[in-house]
Amino acid sequence: MKIYECDGCHKEIEVYDEYEPEFCCKGEQCGCRGMPINPVFCDECEVRVYGRNPLLEELPKLPF
Ligand SMILES: [Zn+2]
Ligand SMILES: [Zn+2]
Repeated sequence: MKIYECDGCHKEIEVYDEYEPEFCCKGEQCGCRGMPINPVFCDECEVRVYGRNPLLEELPKLPF
């Protein structure tokens, strides 16, 4: 793991060593707005951006 910056709040987070941000373009007149196409988020931003916590999704689903 290595330290990287959350793309949501710029807090320091751990990412996989293989992670390298990939950019579409500088974001001028483009929907990507200069954000990486594979952004990384801290837990709080992950929930805010995706509306869920992937860590919780790994738990087995209860039958009710
Ligand atoms: Zn964040
Ligand atoms: Zn773009």
